[in-house]
Amino acid sequence: MAPKHIAILGGGLTGLSSAFHLSRRFPSSTITIIEKSKTLGGWASNTERVQLPGGRGSVVLEGGPHTVRPASNSVLELVNLLGLSDAVIATPKTSPAAKNRFLHVPGTPGIYEIPRPSLSYLWAPLRFFITPGLSFELIRGWNRPKDVLDESLESFMTRRGHPVTARVLGSALVHGIYASDSRLLSVRAAFPKLWELEEKGNGRILWGLLTRSKKEKEAEKEKEEEDRKRYKLGNVLKLMDGVSVYSFRDGMGTLAEELTRSITKNPNIRVLSNTEITALRFDEENGFEIATQRTNPVHPSHIVSALPLPALNKIIPDTHPLPYLTTNPYNSVTAINIVFPTAKIYPRGFGYLVCRPEGDYAADDAGILGVTFDSESLSAQDNLAPGERITKVTVMLGGPHRAPDTALPVVLAHLQYHLNRRKPLPEPLVTRTWQQRNCIPTPLPGHLERMEKLKEALSGGGWDGRMEVIGAGVRGVSIGDCVESGKTVGMAW
Ligand SMILES: Cc1cc2nc3c(=O)[nH]c(=O)nc-3n(C[C@H](O)[C@H](O)[C@H](O)COP(=O)(O)OP(=O)(O)OC[C@H]3O[C@@H](n4cnc5c(N)ncnc54)[C@H](O)[C@@H]3O)c2cc1C
Repeated sequence: MAPKHIAILGGGLTGLSSAFHLSRRFPSSTITIIEKSKTLGGWASNTERVQLPGGRGSVVLEGGPHTVRPASNSVLELVNLLGLSDAVIATPKTSPAAKNRFLHVPGTPGIYEIPRPSLSYLWAPLRFFITPGLSFELIRGWNRPKDVLDESLESFMTRRGHPVTARVLGSALVHGIYASDSRLLSVRAAFPKLWELEEKGNGRILWGLLTRSKKEKEAEKEKEEEDRKRYKLGNVLKLMDGVSVYSFRDGMGTLAEELTRSITKNPNIRVLSNTEITALRFDEENGFEIATQRTNPVHPSHIVSALPLPALNKIIPDTHPLPYLTTNPYNSVTAINIVFPTAKIYPRGFGYLVCRPEGDYAADDAGILGVTFDSESLSAQDNLAPGERITKVTVMLGGPHRAPDTALPVVLAHLQYHLNRRKPLPEPLVTRTWQQRNCIPTPLPGHLERMEKLKEALSGGGWDGRMEVIGAGVRGVSIGDCVESGKTVGMAW
């Protein structure tokens, strides 16, 4: 029987996707979505279009997610069902923004292209950091100790490869995706393919990758195509032919806005925004009771928690504790958009990441994790007056750098050093700073097992399968992971 009343706690992208999909699966159920902010969308709503001074036109500025990968069928499905095809802007795989990515190694001015597997590797400056890792990985056999069921990415890359490659490449990668420390991040939760390939290649990841037979590749492709059948993709797949990443003309906020528009049109969905949940109780008569600081209590028969796990931990009753809600740390990120009044100030590419300094996280690099070259990859978002040329970048700071220096002159000086420019950068036309506290979780080693135990706890002990816990803290932080978890929530109800 369909649930009578589902409450969705938290109206970030996970909560919005849950409301959208649950209302399609259970058209007769009442759904209440409760969100403490005025607007829905969580971190995925940090988008704004601003006018440039002097009638130069307007640009999109983003504090949260910038792009999505076309591999995520659940997001493509939303693009189709919400009629967003015309709003999509894509970065083709053949463009410099898709092909060229750079790295800054603290202590050395400039940024260096991350080499691709080609002849040019032989003179790429970064080869000195990459070659030791590749060489050891190729010659070392199985070396995973029996009792190691998970480990950090750094420990994995050091065990298979070399500590230098782990520090330089591994830390930069984790700065770019999780704004976190690769010495803490679970390799199995964040990069499950690496763990699988190690097993497949009997230790050697590259061997596992290179020795995939034609049959195995075909089987993988078939599985992908079979899986794709779960989604209503319309013609959107065609739009993604040869696409590396994509966004929307008015920024990533479009997805949250259109989801909000769609669910608020549905008479069965009640949206309580600007409403902080203060407690979740068990009510003998009505099942659950959700108390908020603004409205009468809500009495749902079923609950989806799409809250950050520490926020859920604060509201559950002592009588019904849930394990592991506060195990993983969350990192804060400051994003600074800077628009310069000149054409390109950087080499053509997606942007660059900064790796962990050799000692440890120090005040070095003002706490910069990476910089995206937005006017290279997403220039179609900007409506510029004829003949007008600008450069737009986003500087991400913080994460494991606990006290980043976000003062504009400091950030500009570091940019100048990273870009190896003799002259100072021109005075920006516009800047926008987004302080995003505790915005990305770091799944620590053992995360997958802990989340299984959380699921087990929710299946009994009074919860009895009537509440599901999803969101960035549970099954992956990408937009694709969050939307997918909203699509599959409540399948057993
Ligand atoms: C800076 C940054 C850059 C990113 N870049 C990318 C990218 O390029 N590509 C990509 O795929 N992903 C990216 N991500 C990841 C992705 O955007 C997030 O993981 C995702 O948006 C999280 O969605 P969520 O709904 O699970 O969580 P949230 O967005 O955190 O939503 C949770 C909601 O719960 C609400 N809430 C909390 N407590 C309460 C309470 N007591 N009562 C009521 N409501 C409450 C919050 O206000 C919030 O709206 C990025 C994330 C950040 C922060």
